[in-house]
Amino acid sequence: MNEVPLGFLELRGVTKQFGEFTALDDVNLSISEGEFFTLVGPSGSGKTTLIRILVGMDSPTSGDIALRGDVINDVPANRRPTCMVFQNLALFPHKTVGQNVEFAMKIAGVAASTRRERALELLELLRLPADFYSKRINQCSGGERQRIALARALAFDPEILFFDEPLSALDFRLRKTLEKELKDIHRETGKTFVYITHSLEEAMVMSDRIGILNHGKLIQIGSPDDIYNRPLNKFVAQFMGEVNTLAVDKAGTGKVKDSTTGSMYEITESGQEFESGFMIIRPEVMKIGNAADALPNRIQGVLFNDYALGSRIQYQVRSADGENHWLVERLQDDPFSGNAGEPVTIGWRAEDSILVPS
Ligand code: ADP
Ligand code: MG
Repeated sequence: MNEVPLGFLELRGVTKQFGEFTALDDVNLSISEGEFFTLVGPSGSGKTTLIRILVGMDSPTSGDIALRGDVINDVPANRRPTCMVFQNLALFPHKTVGQNVEFAMKIAGVAASTRRERALELLELLRLPADFYSKRINQCSGGERQRIALARALAFDPEILFFDEPLSALDFRLRKTLEKELKDIHRETGKTFVYITHSLEEAMVMSDRIGILNHGKLIQIGSPDDIYNRPLNKFVAQFMGEVNTLAVDKAGTGKVKDSTTGSMYEITESGQEFESGFMIIRPEVMKIGNAADALPNRIQGVLFNDYALGSRIQYQVRSADGENHWLVERLQDDPFSGNAGEPVTIGWRAEDSILVPS
């Protein structure tokens, strides 16, 4: 990303109450112009509520939304220079792709030939063949409809595009393709994208920065690398999926003690105060079998199962205290081999653990 002015779109102390229920709790956020910003959170965390407030479909109970320094709380949706790609696409099913894409331009009184030219440019940008122009929406597949909805949104020439989980209903492969295409389109258009998803993995692929939302609170904001490698707490660390989480207490310099099993683990001192909390170990840095024997931090367990993941293999190891531990190994020349039910050692290096407070 190039240098961009800060404070393009700002949320200051945004709170939303539905009766007694607090859907958004003092959200502060500053989005830069041209940024691809993604809000990630589980279902019910307040994502849609926040996006509705940002586009002007709802207003905050308290706090401000500012665009380029001007508070826009009371500016209605149709007067905000933004656009939203809805989760359910709201395309006109019986009209043609061209009519759908040209919708905004027609209302604005743009001449038919200019509209058509622009619509064809947008179809090309969205990797749709030109003959889609005269196809009807109800003849298009789910993935094609996503692209058409985005072409239609871009035809409004908005300053900011908002996306509310646009890919969640699509199958895995199509989702993966569209994630990459969205990232390309973001780069090609230079527009500000504010994207919402419950999938941190999806956010990682596309975003310049990610905000993690839980119970209406923004817990951490950072680059994908920050979120992945420097999660602020257990919730953020575990949101990524099957990571190893051990409850630990500080036990002298360079050491922590497992509060369940009493085992001691080596850590690298980060300079940060840590008294007690969790040790997070990513499955791809955890070793199993011979590869674990020489490591300073080890757990004995039983191989519970293994799962083929194409070019990688995932192992589930259960220790005597009933905890599950997860490992992912790339398929290599000398892979670990073991059968379910056999005892195994897993291990990790001091520098491969992340400590987070409870
Ligand atoms: P998400 O999009 O992250 O799944 P939402 O923003 O849709 O979550 O909802 C957050 C919470 O606010 C949910 O518990 C939901 O039930 C509640 N909520 C959303 N809209 C309303 C409303 N209009 N009235 C009452 N509660 C609402
Ligand atoms: Mg939602």
